[in-house]
Amino acid sequence: MIKICIDPGHGGIDRANRGPKGYIEADGVLKISKYLKAELEKTGQFEVLLTRPIDATMSLTERGKMAKGYDMFISQHTNAFNGKAGGTVVFYSVDLPQDKEIAEKLSKAISETLGISNRGAKIRESEKYPGEDYYTVIDTAQDIGCPHVFIIESAFHDNPAEEALLLKDENLQKIAQVQAKVICEFYGVSLINYEEKYKTLVSDIKKLIEVYNV
Ligand SMILES: [Zn+2]
Repeated sequence: MIKICIDPGHGGIDRANRGPKGYIEADGVLKISKYLKAELEKTGQFEVLLTRPIDATMSLTERGKMAKGYDMFISQHTNAFNGKAGGTVVFYSVDLPQDKEIAEKLSKAISETLGISNRGAKIRESEKYPGEDYYTVIDTAQDIGCPHVFIIESAFHDNPAEEALLLKDENLQKIAQVQAKVICEFYGVSLINYEEKYKTLVSDIKKLIEVYNV
């Protein structure tokens, strides 16, 4: 089994990040995380852990430490700046430069599915501790030995147009589905397409009926 640790950002006493129309980052990213867990588990190839499966207070180091023994750690977020900035961005670790490629793919896939701009893959190095990651959750997960570590900022919730997208559950589900698609491609796991499987099954039954003339 491929072990994935998904971290829904914020939550508990940390619920202040909101959009102008009432989107709450802590709740939106929990939904994305749960959808992603479901998508990955459908394949039967992934074992998925959520750092917080409910609305709960957790420190950044507690979250990062949960990546121990996992093959990939993804912290789910939505972004905020000045109300006008927009797009998707995916951060990867200073110490894991080979993750740039999958980070680029994740960012491109999410931005395309939402129809927003693609800021792409980025690293953010600590100014205080050069060579270390600026983001505590990335730094901790990487230091504990997780080989693939990301923060995904799917869209800007303080941008009214992007908040409108995030307020729809179907879009949160789409974000999770495209993330799952990229992760499956990365590990060479085929995503189960139930619709296709059903169509094939129906046509096989029809053929059998013809052959046996029942
Ligand atoms: Zn956040």
